[in-house]
Amino acid sequence: MSLMTRTYLVETYGCQMNVHDSERIAGLLDEAGYIPVIEGNQADIVVFNTCAVRENADNKLYGNLSFLAPIKKKNPGMQIAVGGCLAQKDRSIILKKAPYVDVVFGTHNVGSLPVLLERARIEEEAQIEILESLEHFPSTLPARRFSAFTSWVSISVGCNNTCTFCIVPTLRGVEKDRQPADILTEMRALVEQGVIEITLLGQNVNAYGVEFGDRGAFANLLREAGKIDGLERVRFMSPHPRDFTDDVIEAMAQTPNVMPHLHMPLQSGSDSILQSMRRSYRTDKYLGILERVRAAMPEAMITTDIIVGFPGETEEDFQATLDLTTKAQFAAAYTYKYSIRPGTPAGEMPNQVDHNIVGERYTRLHEHQQKISLAVNQSAIGSVHRALVSEVEGRRDEAQARMTGKTEDFRLVHFSADTDARPGDIVDVKITEASAHYLLADAISVARTRGGDAHQARTAPASTTLGMPKVRA
Ligand code: SF4
Repeated sequence: MSLMTRTYLVETYGCQMNVHDSERIAGLLDEAGYIPVIEGNQADIVVFNTCAVRENADNKLYGNLSFLAPIKKKNPGMQIAVGGCLAQKDRSIILKKAPYVDVVFGTHNVGSLPVLLERARIEEEAQIEILESLEHFPSTLPARRFSAFTSWVSISVGCNNTCTFCIVPTLRGVEKDRQPADILTEMRALVEQGVIEITLLGQNVNAYGVEFGDRGAFANLLREAGKIDGLERVRFMSPHPRDFTDDVIEAMAQTPNVMPHLHMPLQSGSDSILQSMRRSYRTDKYLGILERVRAAMPEAMITTDIIVGFPGETEEDFQATLDLTTKAQFAAAYTYKYSIRPGTPAGEMPNQVDHNIVGERYTRLHEHQQKISLAVNQSAIGSVHRALVSEVEGRRDEAQARMTGKTEDFRLVHFSADTDARPGDIVDVKITEASAHYLLADAISVARTRGGDAHQARTAPASTTLGMPKVRA
């Protein structure tokens, strides 16, 4: 079978950083002459881009690998590669557990995948290559983007924090910052290719600039992004309350294309739990930031991440988390049950909470937050928002006669399909109904089409989704 016809599939687990890496993995395989597999067909090369944050991440990978074992037995030319955080952590353990895997590569050497696949094929021997730190920023690698209109741009990799539940610093290393000029050049190039929304990515974007000694670098970057013609929307992920400074709030409020949405992980509403998580802030500081953000941008929506059942969490601590979510009025909270991660300080802590109690608290927090999200969304009824029609969800739902998009404050909105809007357009919509997870609206008019490029782009998206990274949380 010639190299030219070999197909690939990228399976992605975990965070946006991994989704972005998977775009690079797909771009590298394209450049090496492989083609994306047609949905439903068996790929010649399957790449798992893994996550190591939560326990079930391991189970998912090894479960999928054992599913592929008999398929590979029947197709000896098939190749399996495992990359990402779990590969960086488990290394040769992966080959011990799944000796039919051909390549194991780490978070710092995504670029090596095509060479490692070729070497494994020619030498008929599994290849492992894991680097301890990043040599080159992955942003120079080719990418097959997930969307024609929205894109991720990483501004830093790694993290200097030491949250006791988190394995990321061990696997992605200390923080490395890209130069602002490189980031802005990539953003301008993306806008030229038709992108209208960019999300700036980093484990802790608020610490951006530490490496080159400029504490104000992130706020400046937001302001500079505001000067890029054609860039309608700028978002960022993830900020950290410890380093969240007022110049960022001012930059958000004073830069029209920076969207009024802040996803700021809280993790716990109890100061004693935040201390044992080593989060380096307390609830008063967290609430203070929210207050200043809302003073500067009353329309801003705030979302968060919360871990339930951290070692030592008492009913009182948990009640403090419930109380804080009531005060904070988050539009949404992504809640997680704490799970032990080997290699993290929290994994060694005594007072691990019984999993039944964790489950019960998780349900209580979920129900509590549902009510808050519903009330927050209901307060939008009657207001007008701008929805960016996204590719996948955005497609016209003939049965329901509606389309879907994301509002400027990052809420999902389903709206009447009685305009000629298409994916990539921005539509003015009037909110008519609300649920805890989405808004319903009447379309008013198409506020912005993507013009010439947009028309060309419309044909492209359909093809780019084939074989593209499937994201599994
Ligand atoms: S800030 Fe904490 S939770 Fe986030 S990546 Fe860094 S160590 Fe992990």
